[in-house]
Amino acid sequence: MASQEQLLAIKGAKVLMVGAGGIGCELLKTLALSGFQDIHIIDMDTIEVSNLNRQFLFRQSHVGQSKAKVARDAVLRFRSNISITPYHVNVKDSRFNVEFFKEFDVVLNGLDNLDARRHVNRLCLAADVPLVESGTTGFLGQVTVHLKGKTECYECQPKPAPKTYPVCTITSTPSKEIGNLTFDKDDQLAVEFVTAAANIRASSFGIPSHSLFEAKGIAGNIVHAVATTNAVIAGLIVIEAIKVLIKDSNNYRMTYCLEHPSKKLLLMPVEPYEPNKSCYVCSETPLSLEVNIHSSKLRDFVEKIVKAKLGMNFPLIMQGASILYEVGEDLEEDMVAIYAANLEKALSELPSPVTSGTVLTVEDLQQEFSCSINIKHREEFDEEKEPDGMLLSGWVEAPVDKDNNKPIRNSESTSNALPAEEILDGEKDVEIQEIPEGTETVTGKKRKLSEVSEGTSTNHSGLSDENRSHNQLEKLDVDDEDDELIISDDWESLTKKKRL
Ligand SMILES: [Zn+2]
Repeated sequence: MASQEQLLAIKGAKVLMVGAGGIGCELLKTLALSGFQDIHIIDMDTIEVSNLNRQFLFRQSHVGQSKAKVARDAVLRFRSNISITPYHVNVKDSRFNVEFFKEFDVVLNGLDNLDARRHVNRLCLAADVPLVESGTTGFLGQVTVHLKGKTECYECQPKPAPKTYPVCTITSTPSKEIGNLTFDKDDQLAVEFVTAAANIRASSFGIPSHSLFEAKGIAGNIVHAVATTNAVIAGLIVIEAIKVLIKDSNNYRMTYCLEHPSKKLLLMPVEPYEPNKSCYVCSETPLSLEVNIHSSKLRDFVEKIVKAKLGMNFPLIMQGASILYEVGEDLEEDMVAIYAANLEKALSELPSPVTSGTVLTVEDLQQEFSCSINIKHREEFDEEKEPDGMLLSGWVEAPVDKDNNKPIRNSESTSNALPAEEILDGEKDVEIQEIPEGTETVTGKKRKLSEVSEGTSTNHSGLSDENRSHNQLEKLDVDDEDDELIISDDWESLTKKKRL
């Protein structure tokens, strides 16, 4: 039962949901049934046939209609007295600026891609509005809480984008090269048939085809979405949202939904981390960029760094007081021409030349986010290891205490960095996810989802899991499988407390 304080907070809250798909449908239902009365939903997608097995607010007759609007109508049928405001628009649309985000008490993400998540993270930081993040993949899921200055932001841990292909959300116009594949990968005839069919479809949409080998590799990684996981995660989002609303900051938890019980728990709560002081998003730490200033063009910098790596939407690039590049709807024509010409120039040949030692300021006007980049000239790059011809650094994990291999940013925390960022798939029902080999070296302690339970189980035994071999961890996990599952409501005793 909710307390009086919680009920009052729920009634008075204005919440923004981003995403009305797999997690979003469950979340909207749970918010409505929990007593929330003012809910806004942003989702640019329309309903597809393949959503219907789990996005239960939608019916066959809704195919082609706005998810946000249909979800609203469906929930109003059993909660007619509440206000639900749908927006059938991309969350990156300029109308959703910092002022818009400031209207809300909490923002709840049920998104399916890294790009939108980073965008919302920045708007929440700029507007100083708490964010509850979520993601699911098959039986795995997670919910994390992000408060400016108190917990780490969504981007405090670097996230190399995994190669993720939505395969069975059958889109009417495929935009990815993979197409739609579901079959038994061990059946050679089936592999051949489906590969041929997919390639015919690919060629008719003008997208690159795939070899038999690639198709088989793709098929081996399919992860089916599980509606129940979405429901559990939606419930956890609401629990964290209520804590945020009553400012119960001592009890915020990042919660992981595991595939197998670990220490008799399927839901593993972990205390949130403090902000990473080297995070270029929520702290003002400058980044460094090694680049050949004579051969790299401004366009390379904008595309490969500012957009792809920094996730900016409307970038503005400045050197001191002079603007090198800007995107905007109200720019004068002559300025548009100058910026277009700048894009084709090498960095050292710009009107105010970029040299080794230059500090560039890169801003995104919509996200109200800016960062500094120290430029360092470098002549040669390894084509295989550094295909961008540039190397961005400075965005690192918090320093590690070499003696015990634990992050030192949280002296009281018993847990190591859990991969809050690994689940990027949100509500996609079937995803192919490749976590590239070498991820570990890029991100230090990043682990695959399958290792979540392993990591946490060792945390509770008070041992560092960093020194254990993967095999040992696997054994621990297998041992746990025979454990009887208990559901505990006394998480305090299971997770050590940490001051924020
Ligand atoms: Zn951060």
